[in-house]
Amino acid sequence: MNQLKTVIAGVSGRMGRALLEAVDQDAGCMLHGALDRSGHASVSQDASLFGGTRGVVISDNLDVALLGADVLVDFTRPEATLLYLDACRKAKVNLIIGTTGFDANGKAAIEHAAREIGIVFAPNFSVGVNLLMKLAETASRVLNEGYDIEIIEAHHRHKVDAPSGTALGIGQTVARTLGRELKNCAVYGREGVTGERKPDTIGFATVRGGDIVGDHTLLFAGIGERVELTHKASSRATFAHGALRAAKWLQCKGPGLYDMRDVLGLK
Ligand code: NAD
Repeated sequence: MNQLKTVIAGVSGRMGRALLEAVDQDAGCMLHGALDRSGHASVSQDASLFGGTRGVVISDNLDVALLGADVLVDFTRPEATLLYLDACRKAKVNLIIGTTGFDANGKAAIEHAAREIGIVFAPNFSVGVNLLMKLAETASRVLNEGYDIEIIEAHHRHKVDAPSGTALGIGQTVARTLGRELKNCAVYGREGVTGERKPDTIGFATVRGGDIVGDHTLLFAGIGERVELTHKASSRATFAHGALRAAKWLQCKGPGLYDMRDVLGLK
């Protein structure tokens, strides 16, 4: 079996470490390269210090790391991802993007690069969360009138963006299914005298604390009943294994922009 030559970015990070471990456990993948930010203490160290395969040295040299690689798996920061995107396009290396928090220009750059290489870009690589998205579509079709829709998410204290990319993804799925534009109906947090809840809005609430890996609840509150769809991630391994599943799936595809629902056949 040909193993997928995998480069992991941001290896000193929480997701980077989970990815190094996942590659090590996955017979279909081999660690081809390990990257981190220039000037970071991890650069020039052995990847095994962070849970990766012994003998792979962590580098800040993107072009060298991509030589001969099949795929780069990136869970870092938008500014880093955009540099990686350009390098992958030039080197014709597929890209898995787990980083969240892109602005419209960043998303446009990803779409543009996907004309030349295969990219799986997903706010959440967990198989369970992507099933939740599918269930959200079904629930929105049935509970389409008379139900107030709220999305509640909780993450660890170090998370820097809010609401989470996954919460926004759930909101987009619900809004699209109901024929609404999320930007016109989203309400992000409430404070003071807010007035009564407006029908047809989708509310978001954010909790940050401790080491919560990632909880998401989609709530439909009607008169006399509530329906709650909840997913709780207990370890980052779920995102890492999902990302590698996407990387292996992408190997047989041409250029294009895909998400986890494509990977899982949920579309
Ligand atoms: P982290 O802060 O623990 O790690 C970030 C890593 O990126 C570090 O190794 C850091 O050195 C590196 N980095 C930061 N800036 C860089 C730069 N300019 N150039 C190169 N490398 C740089 O963060 P984390 O918790 O591992 O999360 C990383 C990203 O992944 C976040 O955007 C987070 O929201 C996202 N995430 C996505 C999913 C998903 O399933 N899509 C799951 C978990 C986390």
